[in-house]
Parts: sequence; structure tokens; C-alpha cells
Amino acid sequence: MGLVNLLAWLQGPPRCYLCLGRCGKGMLCQVCREALPGPRAACKRCGRSLARPAPACGVCLSRPPPYELLCCPMEYRFPVDQLIQALKFNADLVAGRLLARLLLEQLLDREDPLPLAILPIPLHPKRQRSRGFNQSSEIARHLGKALSLPVLEDRLERWRHDPPQSTLGALQRRRNVKGAYRLRRRKGPLPRRIALVDDVVTTGSTVDAATRVLKSAGVCQVEVWAVARATGPAGA
Ligand SMILES: [Zn+2]
Ligand SMILES: [Zn+2]
Repeated sequence: MGLVNLLAWLQGPPRCYLCLGRCGKGMLCQVCREALPGPRAACKRCGRSLARPAPACGVCLSRPPPYELLCCPMEYRFPVDQLIQALKFNADLVAGRLLARLLLEQLLDREDPLPLAILPIPLHPKRQRSRGFNQSSEIARHLGKALSLPVLEDRLERWRHDPPQSTLGALQRRRNVKGAYRLRRRKGPLPRRIALVDDVVTTGSTVDAATRVLKSAGVCQVEVWAVARATGPAGA
């Protein structure tokens, strides 16, 4: 959204963020809402698309991921891919609010108790400096506020600076993030149940690596909350 449109959108009556048509409270009109690539039926454990929702897919039955649950309601395609890129590369914070809201709808739909805290996947400090902010933190901040959960910003750190995951294939992604995260242990023990927040999950290697670090520090249950799941070379 350009600056002029953004100002009009912020000042005027509620308008759809995508088509600027009139809408209710939800930031999207009904037409755009229904055209979104989700919510979709998925494996609750890993988020892979399925014909109907299931607690675990065939892959998870034989080789479960280290996290207990992965919630990512959207597919990483138009317009969700554009929204994520707008947040990530243009610091479009309204897009961030909309993405958090789409994720929140799915989270509020659950019966399981919520985790005790939210932890956004950190960027390497160098990347965070060049981008100006961390898109996962931005989404996590909205979720924390809406769900009244603490957001743990400074507990996990990305300490190895490697090529962006989006430039790599699946095997390289796994190697790229292996050992890339570590805990700041001086900050004390972590809550027993934590939700990791990321913008988009592709192969799962990033959230896999971060989960292993949390579990090695005594966290019992790790959930992953991401807006979208991609199948192509897009995120991590
Ligand atoms: Zn619309
Ligand atoms: Zn699965």
C-alpha cells in the first residue's frame, strides 16, 4: 500500500486493507477474506496441508518433529506472500497487524490451554540492524497483547550470520541453521510451555533448530505459530 493510500486507510471509515473497499472491524472485506489462501486443513503436528485436519500426518507418525504442534493457517501465496514481504522489507506495520490477526483467529479457535510465553525467532543482530526490526517480533508483539502472554525478546539469539534461508535448498537450510541459535542463559529459567513465532515456515528447519535449543534448556512443550506455510523456496 502506498503512503497516500495508507493515510486514507488510517484516517477514513474502516476500509479493506487489500482492496480499499468498505469493511467491518476485521481489516478485510468479505470478498478479500474469502479469497485468502486459508485457513486450510493441515496436520496439527507439522502444518503440512491435508485433505482434512488430523492430529498427525504420515510423516509425523514415523518421524515426528521436535515441537508438539505447529499452527500456521495460511498458505504462502497471494496475497499472504505480499503481506509478509511488505512487513519484512517495507516495514509495513499495518500488514503486520493484519497477519497477526489472521494467525490469532486460528489460535482463538483452539481447545488446548495456551503456552505460558511467546518467543519470536530472532534475526542475527547484523540482519536486524540492516532491516531495522524483526518481523517475527512484530507479529509476536500483537499476539502477546491479544492473548495476554509475555513476549520473550532477549532469551534466544541467532549468533551465526549465514546466508538468508530463502536463497538455499532444503538440505542447505538444515545445515545453515544447525547450531545457529543459542540461549542467553544468564536470564534465568524459561517457562515450561513456549510458543515460537515465525512469519513463514518452509522446510521447518529454523523452528526445528530453535525448538531443540529450548528443549535442551528444559522447556517441556514447544509450539510453533507462523502465519503461513510455504512449499517453495521462500522462508525457513
Ligand atoms: Zn477487500
Ligand atoms: Zn505432520
